[in-house]
Amino acid sequence: MLHRPRLLVVFGTRPEAIKMAPVIEALRNYPQIDTRVLVTGQHRGLLEQALRAFGIVADVDLALMGAAATLEGQLAAMLVAIGAALERERPARVVVHGDTLTTLATTLAAHLRGVPVAHVEAGLRSGDLSAPWPEEGSRRVAGVLADLHFAPTPAAAAALRAENVPAAAIHLTGNTVADALRIVRARIAAAPAPADAVAAALARFSGRRIVTVTAHRRENQGETLAGIAEAVARLAERADLGIVVPLHPNPAVAGPLALRLGGSARIALLPALDYAAFVRLMTASTLILTDSGGVQEEAPALGVPVLVLRDVTERPEGVAAGGARIVGTDPARIVAAASALLDDPAAIGAMAVARDCHGDGHAAGRIAAILAAALAT
Ligand code: UDP
Repeated sequence: MLHRPRLLVVFGTRPEAIKMAPVIEALRNYPQIDTRVLVTGQHRGLLEQALRAFGIVADVDLALMGAAATLEGQLAAMLVAIGAALERERPARVVVHGDTLTTLATTLAAHLRGVPVAHVEAGLRSGDLSAPWPEEGSRRVAGVLADLHFAPTPAAAAALRAENVPAAAIHLTGNTVADALRIVRARIAAAPAPADAVAAALARFSGRRIVTVTAHRRENQGETLAGIAEAVARLAERADLGIVVPLHPNPAVAGPLALRLGGSARIALLPALDYAAFVRLMTASTLILTDSGGVQEEAPALGVPVLVLRDVTERPEGVAAGGARIVGTDPARIVAAASALLDDPAAIGAMAVARDCHGDGHAAGRIAAILAAALAT
């Protein structure tokens, strides 16, 4: 039998699974490559939910969730387990995504074993190592150690060039989040909407404008998250709104949000939603408030105005295109920004235009073709 070079695609969290799923699908068009999927299980439940949404089954599951209490403990456990997996799997190349602890551990382990690394969603930079933390640092390390960089936007490609990454190693592909949205929206359109938690929340708030809120970032946990909850509670004083909050299962996130927001007549607290359900919710929304990286990209693609609950973003394209605004985390500022928009039909209307500033929905095919070419040489 012909030797098929092995490609090991590695990730561990929900956003990585959603954004890598289209790449794994596209790689199925290359039977000459032995594509294998390794998950670290950094976020167990959310990861499985996202994988199910795309019908992907991991070939290797390191089941590392909760392996250690500290970030450095988790990193150490991952580094050792991924190193051992590389020894067993002997891939010709690994593919990592974005900026998670899994990305950092896999990049380091592969580097130490001399396995080349391809980095999907490379080159995003906030310019601030403390936000997003620790992700900005992890993404920069991958930028140093990878030899193939799939930049989602021209700004990301420019950031890599500015850091002396060789131009030939940088490929401007678009962000695969647009591919994931395209795939899931086609599926949503092809089937009747299920009678699920989203349908129930939309029925409960029928006749009101839907505002979707997500917050989970590590650097926002604690007092800042309590401030975000306070802002949402104040917005819920408006009779024209139905506010839907899918909760990240991390107790440090879900606890404070449920404590402040539970029991309000105009707020629905939902468990974390599967991807198709969450896309249906975003699509039904008049406004989204989020500190998430992925949601800040998806909202402009769907034409839903988004207020970003961060002080800086490594994803400035949505703001530049007019679909997103950075409002920070101060409760008074969040309420003022959301209210001003909700009360200004022209302003919110101008934001509510679908934009492809993060990608055209065909990034995964480009990435798979470049990976195939790299493996053939
Ligand atoms: N998401 C989801 N269900 C939810 C909330 C979010 O599927 O209940 C998706 C969302 O569409 C986006 C991704 O999860 O693609 C974002 O993940 P998260 O906010 O955890 O991480 P970040 O993007 O900030 O890294």
